[in-house]
Amino acid sequence: MIVPDEVIRSNRRTISISIMKDGAVVVKAPIKAKDDQINQFVLSKQGWIQSKVNACLLTNARFKDIINYDKVLVYGNKYSILLADTKKIELGDGLQIIFPKKIAPEHRIKHLKTWFKKLAKRALEARIYQIAEKLNFVFNSFKITDSKGRWGSCSSRKQININYRVIMLPPAVIDYILVHELCHLAEMNHSKRFWRLVGQCYPSFNVAKTNLKQYGFLLDLYRK
Ligand SMILES: [Zn+2]
Repeated sequence: MIVPDEVIRSNRRTISISIMKDGAVVVKAPIKAKDDQINQFVLSKQGWIQSKVNACLLTNARFKDIINYDKVLVYGNKYSILLADTKKIELGDGLQIIFPKKIAPEHRIKHLKTWFKKLAKRALEARIYQIAEKLNFVFNSFKITDSKGRWGSCSSRKQININYRVIMLPPAVIDYILVHELCHLAEMNHSKRFWRLVGQCYPSFNVAKTNLKQYGFLLDLYRK
């Protein structure tokens, strides 16, 4: 049995289980919940906990080099960092990012982040206009953001915001996020009608939507 790494009691009514990004199991419970009751609950959810923890550990192993900044993810591909006598960061031939060697290691992440934002602005803006034109969507503004917990958003004023980290995802997943936000121009919710519209605009969106789940860890990167 997998036992919780942490039990947090608070003023709440139900017991819930969350799996953290590092695979830790955290249980939230009402103040008065008995230990037996919590254990029973955790026991009844073992299958679910096990599969979530496994998925988490698998992602952490698969993307270890990305998480520790040894490599960089662009369009879903891993690029290694090649230090060179150059002034600016550039995508090289093959899966390499040419990086100015004169930039001190402790400033590398900051510079990569700026580079990512520029690349995202250029590439994602071009892509969303292309898709919007094809699908007949019109929006008022497009912005690249560094939002904490989300890939994108669309406001009732028809302003679309996209997290710059979207550029790290595979093209099919990028398109899904852009289509998803564009569809919010017509449906400001996640109703059946919304998902039907997404399906009409992007028939195989479910594959991309599932694929996106493993990339949640990216939202925590480049925050130093
Ligand atoms: Zn949405």
